Amino acid sequence: MSTEIIINLVYVASAVLFIFGLKLLGSPDTARRGNLISAAGMFIAVVVTLLDQKIIAYEYIALGIVLGALVGAVAARKVAMTGMPELVALFNGFGGLASLMVGWAALAMALSIADTTAPVPLFTLVTVFVSILIGGLTFTGSLLAYGKLSERISGRPFMYDGQRIINGLILLAVLACAVLFILDPTNQNWLYLAVALALVLGVMFVLPIGGADMPVVIALLNSLSGVAAAAAGFAIGNILLIVAGSLVGASGLILTNIMCKAMNRSLRNVLFSGFGVVKKVSGPVVEQGEVNPITADDAYYILEAAASVVIIPGYGMAVAQAQHAVKELQTILEGNGVEVVYAIHPVAGRMPGHMNVLLAEADVPYDLLLEMDQVNPRLETFDVALVIGANDVVNPAAREVESSPIYGMPVINADKARTVFVLKRSMASGFAGIDNPLFFKENTRMLFGDAKEMLGNLVKAFD
Ligand code: NDP
Repeated sequence: MSTEIIINLVYVASAVLFIFGLKLLGSPDTARRGNLISAAGMFIAVVVTLLDQKIIAYEYIALGIVLGALVGAVAARKVAMTGMPELVALFNGFGGLASLMVGWAALAMALSIADTTAPVPLFTLVTVFVSILIGGLTFTGSLLAYGKLSERISGRPFMYDGQRIINGLILLAVLACAVLFILDPTNQNWLYLAVALALVLGVMFVLPIGGADMPVVIALLNSLSGVAAAAAGFAIGNILLIVAGSLVGASGLILTNIMCKAMNRSLRNVLFSGFGVVKKVSGPVVEQGEVNPITADDAYYILEAAASVVIIPGYGMAVAQAQHAVKELQTILEGNGVEVVYAIHPVAGRMPGHMNVLLAEADVPYDLLLEMDQVNPRLETFDVALVIGANDVVNPAAREVESSPIYGMPVINADKARTVFVLKRSMASGFAGIDNPLFFKENTRMLFGDAKEMLGNLVKAFD
């Protein structure tokens, strides 16, 4: 059997492993195995790709693998769960940069073997250009998203007059460069200009996005990094890169769509309207009312008398690492004959599935985790809604205040429960930076304090 056939057979096996791995990633139960299976698929793909020896030198490749593995291992070990979206943003960015380089290298190779009788094929030129354009804008867009998410720069949307026109003009200029480059690939000045413009476009694309829209843009950049990789795959004629890139592109797009739905926004609205930019809608003025703080000892009496409790976790639970304390309280409440369920919002925390992962770590059974759509219709039947470090995802302004930036976003209707306990340290706003009328509702009691400490106090009160 020729090397080429072996390589292609292994590629098919790798693609199957990727798809199977992706399927297993769909549930917290099997996600770890899914990750390992996909990684194994990538490992064998890399090994057989090296077999055909169309490479510069094994030493460089070994050095790259060692350095990459070191950086990856350290980053994965060091990153806090709450910093995961930033890490994903960086990975997307470097994925984009890698595609840009692969595309460029493919062009250099094609130009070196082309001559006047056999010029570089149009298909190669187009795919090289696409990988460079999308890879470049994914790189700088992701770096900016990283800066915004890690709060190294302001996370607010940055908008100015004529922004869309300027972005449109940059895009047109890139396309013009594409045409000029394809007409004369030996004159690489057009390509250099296109690379520079693509890098600028990435920044311009992410600048007007901010606040609670950032998760959507991370998912979209993830998808774009896949598209760039697929284009690079076409440019160098590597089937597996095309398959892997398409899988990333498609799954990123599906995730983008799920997130837009969870926020009741269209992608167009997320990309172009600027989160939190004041909308000129004459909505009713919200009466803020009074805040009612409560101590853990007093909260105990209400919890002790409750027949059903819905726990709504958010980012604060992750910050406080309170998942084990939550589980402890759940066990005590269940021992008391209380029905306990968890309500999980799709964008609670700082990454999709953030709450599920933390609760799984504390051995909370999956069947107690209800999605927003399952739990909302029966929220008024709960005696207590215990909101733990969640804010935006339980903000009733999304239903009630037309002028709110999150108006229309589906939220967990915690305020509908008979009594609501909101466990957080202060009156500070959440990620979206907006007020939350839930804190002022008549049936809300504020349990001020660190989530882990306060849950510990509640558990103690039951002793
Ligand atoms: P929020 O960011 O809205 O609110 C979290 C709350 O937790 C804060 O108000 C804070 O209040 C409280 N908190 C912080 N530390 C502690 C602590 N140690 N103990 C107790 N409370 C604490 O979180 P949500 O989960 O409600 O909403 C997620 C937000 O993040 C949404 O806006 C979403 O769009 C966005 N986002 C989501 C991503 C995703 O994929 N899931 C990714 C990126 C952003 P205080 O300081 O007073 O304690």
